[in-house]
Amino acid sequence: MSDLKTLKIREVISAIRNYERFMVLTHVHPDGDAMGALVAMQLIVRWLGKRVDAFTQDPCPPEYRFLPNVQQIRNKPPESIEYEAAILVDCGDLERVGEKFLDAVKATPFLINIDHHLVSNPFGNVNWVETTASSTCEMLFDLCMSLSLAPDKALSTALYTGILTDTGSFRYSNTNARVFEIISALVAFGADPARIASNVYDSATPEKLRLLARVLETMEFHASSRIVSAELSRSMLSDSPSTHIESEGFINHLRSVKSAEMAILFKETGDGLIHVSMRSRGDINVARLAQRHGGGGHKQAAACRIQGDLGTVRSMFIAEAVSYIDGDRRSQVV
Ligand code: 5GP
Ligand code: MN
Repeated sequence: MSDLKTLKIREVISAIRNYERFMVLTHVHPDGDAMGALVAMQLIVRWLGKRVDAFTQDPCPPEYRFLPNVQQIRNKPPESIEYEAAILVDCGDLERVGEKFLDAVKATPFLINIDHHLVSNPFGNVNWVETTASSTCEMLFDLCMSLSLAPDKALSTALYTGILTDTGSFRYSNTNARVFEIISALVAFGADPARIASNVYDSATPEKLRLLARVLETMEFHASSRIVSAELSRSMLSDSPSTHIESEGFINHLRSVKSAEMAILFKETGDGLIHVSMRSRGDINVARLAQRHGGGGHKQAAACRIQGDLGTVRSMFIAEAVSYIDGDRRSQVV
């Protein structure tokens, strides 16, 4: 372990030991790593003998409801300031906790930021940011080891889920020997790979699959099929009992096209904004493109929100993406 990492983990541990009452939070529209890290962090802080409550602005997506203690996660901010410290996990920017929680977090005297995103404003009083970690859950495994905490089945399940989903089931370029070492340890500690995979990947409703079919019908290819795009409109959602939350993994279907170096899914959010989700392969850095529009994320998975109607935003953004992939390629060569 690098000296800096050891130092950061020590800072986190001593900060947790200093306080008694914690809130743990993650980003809006939580994914598997966000939910896994939220649940895991709560278990770790509780193991240290502290009082801790977990919060997310958006509800837990159905495929992660099997995680331990998710029923206890609160979706409303606390009425009064009853917490001495807040721990934010997997939350690239402070604003990503969601507008409903921002005031409560800002009013908390001490902030601990634990994250692996590419760009992270150091908003915490303690910032432990590892951009080379596959997932926040990988970092929390290291935290457990530093605490000599052998994860039980519940904690192993939460950590496994975050690593599984943030590595795209061990398919993305953040999958390495260290990931498999940790995964092997987590299975030995009680995580059940088949049960977790079945909950995460094979728990769709018929309506979700119908919605996916409609989204795939809008698929278009650009720049000699190097870019693939699709859209999810409000009207598709209003015709379906499915929600935005259930569309979380749709972009992975676009990403599976062999020729596509970049996949883009445009989702109409209902507040006049279009959520633009991006995934890339190879050298293309979609986080930089997202940042141009006030968003962010990782090199190969990023998003931003753009004001406007779906059709206009889609054609404007595709034009920008087409010139971006060429420009980005050139800047890599120079
Ligand atoms: P998604 O396409 O799943 O909405 O987001 C892809 C990735 O980008 C996720 O890792 C997510 O956390 C990150 N992301 C999405 N929106 C933003 C944003 O507004 N700011 C930052 N910093 N990251 C974002
Ligand atoms: Mn993550």
